[in-house]
Amino acid sequence: MARIRVCFPHAAFYFYIREGNKLQECDTDKARSLRPFFQRMPFSHLRLVYPIFVVPYLPRHGTTGGCYRPNRVRRWLGQEHETGVSDADLERFVLEPGSGIIGIPKRKWEATGFKWTVLHEVAHSVDYARNYRLYPAGTRAADFDGVTAFPEGTNNVSEHAVEVYARIIGQAPNICRETAEFQRRGESQAAADQRVVGVLRRGPAFRSLPSSWWTDVGWPAR
Ligand SMILES: [Zn+2]
Repeated sequence: MARIRVCFPHAAFYFYIREGNKLQECDTDKARSLRPFFQRMPFSHLRLVYPIFVVPYLPRHGTTGGCYRPNRVRRWLGQEHETGVSDADLERFVLEPGSGIIGIPKRKWEATGFKWTVLHEVAHSVDYARNYRLYPAGTRAADFDGVTAFPEGTNNVSEHAVEVYARIIGQAPNICRETAEFQRRGESQAAADQRVVGVLRRGPAFRSLPSSWWTDVGWPAR
């Protein structure tokens, strides 16, 4: 199993790609191309990111990206025919260290929007960590009006919050894309974006960060 190491001063994490994969050369460049975005993450979040596996399919032929917390990793056992990841590799790289796992199907990895798939799953691994929820208790899906979440129409608050996080880290031009939804509230694009970023700002994951972090990533307090 090939490992691509993307390093930072205080954290490093790994992309795992099955050997014998013809796309390995460009995969390497792709993994490294994400570095500027990972560098926008606080170190306290970076160290929580699960190892990322680029795979033919997720367990049980899954075709979307997936983030599995540690107690769900066992779903990958016996799935080598789908994932290309043997039980021995899973044991060594994930189960034994007690980590979760991020799976990115090759079809998603090769798509133009691959960066958003990866950042979405990365955001889940931060959100899953104890004391690192991305949003405060009591948050409702409606607090994220204007944010598209997946699967479409979901009321899952985490799915909304991880999208906002991914767009902050990924330097999306707009955070809110459902124009009709925020216009119904009488908001401009800028006001809607500030509102949803404000929800994350109050989340436990950001509690100990200095306000300069927000300024650095382009979201100074108003
Ligand atoms: Zn998700």
